[in-house]
Amino acid sequence: MYRTNTCGELRISDVGKTVTLAGWVQRIRKMGGMSFIDLRDRYGITQLVVDDASSDAVKEALGKLGREAVIQAVGKVAERQSKNAKIDTGDIEIILSEINILNLSATPPFTIEDNSDGGEELRAKYRYLDLRRGPLKNALMLRHKLAHEVRNYLDAQGFMEIETPYLIKSTPEGARDFVVPSRMNPGEFYALPQSPQTFKQLLMVAGYDRYFQIVRCFRDEDLRADRQPEFTQIDCEMSFVEQEDVLNTFEGMMRTLFKNVVGVEIANPIPRISWYDAMDRYGSDKPDIRFGMEIHEISPLVQGHGFSVFDSVEYVGAIAVPGAAEYTRKQTDELTEWVKRPQVGAKGLVYIKLNPDGSIKSSVDKFYTPEQLQAVADAMGAKTGDLILVLCGEKRKTQTMLGVLRIEMGNRLGLRKPNEFAPLWVVDFPLLEWSEEDGRFYAMHHPFTAPKPEHMELFYSDRKEDLEKVCANAYDFVLNGTELGGGSIRIHQADVQQRMFQVLGISKEDADYKFGFIINAFKFGAPPHGGLAFGFDRVCALFGGQETIRDFIAFPKNNMGRDVMIDSPSRIDQVQMDELFLSSTAPEPKE
Ligand code: ASP
Repeated sequence: MYRTNTCGELRISDVGKTVTLAGWVQRIRKMGGMSFIDLRDRYGITQLVVDDASSDAVKEALGKLGREAVIQAVGKVAERQSKNAKIDTGDIEIILSEINILNLSATPPFTIEDNSDGGEELRAKYRYLDLRRGPLKNALMLRHKLAHEVRNYLDAQGFMEIETPYLIKSTPEGARDFVVPSRMNPGEFYALPQSPQTFKQLLMVAGYDRYFQIVRCFRDEDLRADRQPEFTQIDCEMSFVEQEDVLNTFEGMMRTLFKNVVGVEIANPIPRISWYDAMDRYGSDKPDIRFGMEIHEISPLVQGHGFSVFDSVEYVGAIAVPGAAEYTRKQTDELTEWVKRPQVGAKGLVYIKLNPDGSIKSSVDKFYTPEQLQAVADAMGAKTGDLILVLCGEKRKTQTMLGVLRIEMGNRLGLRKPNEFAPLWVVDFPLLEWSEEDGRFYAMHHPFTAPKPEHMELFYSDRKEDLEKVCANAYDFVLNGTELGGGSIRIHQADVQQRMFQVLGISKEDADYKFGFIINAFKFGAPPHGGLAFGFDRVCALFGGQETIRDFIAFPKNNMGRDVMIDSPSRIDQVQMDELFLSSTAPEPKE
């Protein structure tokens, strides 16, 4: 037997037992005639002791040990003189009678401690060493626990976990596909699934009315903002359901996860807001509702007073920042520069200060009387001491900018408390989104999302204005300003699906070529169905109280989509290229 116990297991009640542990040498400290080895494994750290009374063989082995050596250690559990309350095994130590060196280690390129001295790049290259560190181990343990809880919950609800293929045909989730050349079918390619969307719908046609899968998805996107080219979804689909059934089922799942994994009770029921209200009130389709500072349209109050900037635009909106009236000129100037950054894109910023002494000061005093400004403040419910920030322009764009500004002010004022969890459902999304650039509609969710039954007539209209009004039973689960999941009630009739492709400007031939299989399946008794998917990596990160998903993935890629540990992607040799009928026009790599 390699070990009788783990390094996280022994307690004061084990004193006197002879045990065998196996693990890695975290560090060795010498004090007088005694040496202490911290032995580490996945479960914890146990202190081993070598002293004057130890055998020569033990002393000799000790002399050979360095950090990260793997050893087997035999000895007797003893009560410790100076106890360490910080670790679970801190009351005991092992007086060694035997050390077997199982393997030595080269000097690790960075310290394997909770706070490592290694930079991100170096740690990524030696990910297997980084994974020995406590924070990453805890992250992966949390991930495991969450996956386990998800399976338990869904199993209890009658869901079946069914695997779907990875070598498939393009799925339109709005990103670029990763493709895989087929050797046996020269010149033809598989696409890796952006999600199992079409397969889970086919499973509904097949009668598996409650499906789920914790599944890898692949999207070839520029990796801005904490994305990974391959990521994991909790993917689900249900038949014979309405939106309400889907929301209730997954509200239950999230509630269970919060309760069982972090011991937090979340709102019951989880609030819902329509996409339109979310945009109007928060300037975002994934609002952070941990704090107020809502957006108010003030166009009617400020237009028609001779201020041409406001008079010439579709929309003027504002937020009231609590207690920020004391902002100095320097601070408001800095904020103005901040909103002009390309990431926000505003042309300028107007402010109104509701000074603690009751006076009002604004950057547009020339155009408005204090009474008119007070009317704006009253309409917004702003209070003495608040700083009102105003942006104007095209409606949705301006709301979005105000939304970004609101989050920034929430951050600056510390209103986004990390230990507060405020979930909500955003519902009633528009079905379609017009792209000025491409002069065509795109599906706001994906092309399998059904129009609301009451909007069917609008959906068959040829007028752009009508189509823009069509709403879907589509929903997103949002937590603290992050979209954790989303889904919809689907189209289940072949003719409606065909109409959808037509609205999206996809020719009949093209639709048949790409999606003929699903249109065809809908002709064979497809049941009404709907579902959703949660971003599992992000769920993990949020539960772990972290901003980035990378630590919750055992082997992530960097923001160039590279795995620097295995050095991938990489070139393949000419034989492989030839077998696949491929030739490359990429420039030769620099030596
Ligand atoms: N397939 C969708 C996605 O990946 C989720 C869904 O509609 O179920 O976003």
